[in-house]
Amino acid sequence: MSCELKAKDRTGVINLIFTCQPAGAQYVSIGIKDCIGIVHGGQGCVMFVRLLISQHLKESFEIASSSVHEDGVVFGALDRVEQAVDVLLMRYPHVKVIPIITTCSTEVIGDDVDGVVRKLNDGLLKEKYAGREVHLIPIHTPSFVGSMISGYDLAVRDIVKYFARKGESNGKINVITGWANPGDVTALKHLLSEMEIDATVLFEIEDFDSPFMPSGNTVSHGNTTIADLTDTANASATLELNRYEGGKAANYLEETFQIPTLIGPTPIGIRNTDTLLHNLKTLTGKPIPPSLVRERGIALDALTDLVHMFLADKRVAIYGNPDSVIGLAEFCLDLEMKPVLLGDDNAGYVNDPRIHALRDGVSHDMEIITNADLWEMEQRITQNDLRLDLIFGHSKGRFTAIDNQIPMVRVGFPTYDRAGHYRHPVVGYAGAIWLAEQMANSLFIDMEYKKNKEWLLNVW
Ligand code: SF4
Repeated sequence: MSCELKAKDRTGVINLIFTCQPAGAQYVSIGIKDCIGIVHGGQGCVMFVRLLISQHLKESFEIASSSVHEDGVVFGALDRVEQAVDVLLMRYPHVKVIPIITTCSTEVIGDDVDGVVRKLNDGLLKEKYAGREVHLIPIHTPSFVGSMISGYDLAVRDIVKYFARKGESNGKINVITGWANPGDVTALKHLLSEMEIDATVLFEIEDFDSPFMPSGNTVSHGNTTIADLTDTANASATLELNRYEGGKAANYLEETFQIPTLIGPTPIGIRNTDTLLHNLKTLTGKPIPPSLVRERGIALDALTDLVHMFLADKRVAIYGNPDSVIGLAEFCLDLEMKPVLLGDDNAGYVNDPRIHALRDGVSHDMEIITNADLWEMEQRITQNDLRLDLIFGHSKGRFTAIDNQIPMVRVGFPTYDRAGHYRHPVVGYAGAIWLAEQMANSLFIDMEYKKNKEWLLNVW
């Protein structure tokens, strides 16, 4: 029995699990109120990312492009940033925050985005937009390093760093959710509200589950305000739920403003949600109320109905964002399932205590592949006889599941081939129920189509 941590032994990537760094920064930008990011690069760096986010959330929102063309790549394209900022401010009178997100091409040519921000602050903003509050924030996200995860992490840090200012203590806690769905934000706010904790949930996109109103406005936006960001320096603590998606910002606040920080756990499953509530209790002194004890009981009851009969010993492959992959693996182990293959691109796993715990604790053979791609999973299934009962991952792996007739539960970003997943939380006790029931129902459908003990469902 072993748990091996190893990098994919092949250069190049076939069928990526992630997209590039600017995508993460764009996801962060949509969580801020009165904000439209400008992506400094070719139009595709926005168009395809925006399409992906839009497919995932089934909503419309705004991100701009500096629309760099061939001449810009040869001679430099900072004039495009100047024009983009001007056009954006003219076109959108409400916009106050403009992250300027670099891409591979503009980082390679060495465009001095910090310099052009200084120039715009001293020139255009003073002359043409005097009296208007505008914040231009350079975010350096070259796509030849990292992935959308590190892009998210960098953008959260740089935006917090830009705004955070020491003032009076506000008695609140900062909550950095990491890459979350609207349903996850609602579930987290519910836990905080049940514990009567005053918290600032940062970069949250709860309102991307938008109503269709009589006014006809269908453009979604995030809810984190400039005041929220400024006040992050005055919180009593920071709770950072995902180590790799906001950890840098939490560390910055701790080092610069001495705000105590707790990192993790990613609250997927009963165990991790328990730890989250315990951490909140430790940070705030607020007790865990009976209402949450009851919710926990309902979740335990739902899981008990499924675990021994259907989920135990099922072999699962999990891919996606590192923190959610680890959270899902921990949850599967608690359900007596067997995660056999974990894949993502995280080189930081070597020092991750959760990976150490997995390596020390599993009683079956398991592989954790860093810098993985979907080809890696496919190869193991088709060439190495990897037997799987279930796949956990986002929609990009759907053909591996379909071609190999393996039931699949969609989790993570992007999920565009199932209805309403962004609305259902994977975190908290509600998320534990949702995930376990999704797994069970996927296995039930598989049993029926393959005529594999489907009669069991008559007598369950
Ligand atoms: S930043 Fe580079 S890798 Fe990412 S979309 Fe733009 S061109 Fe492609």
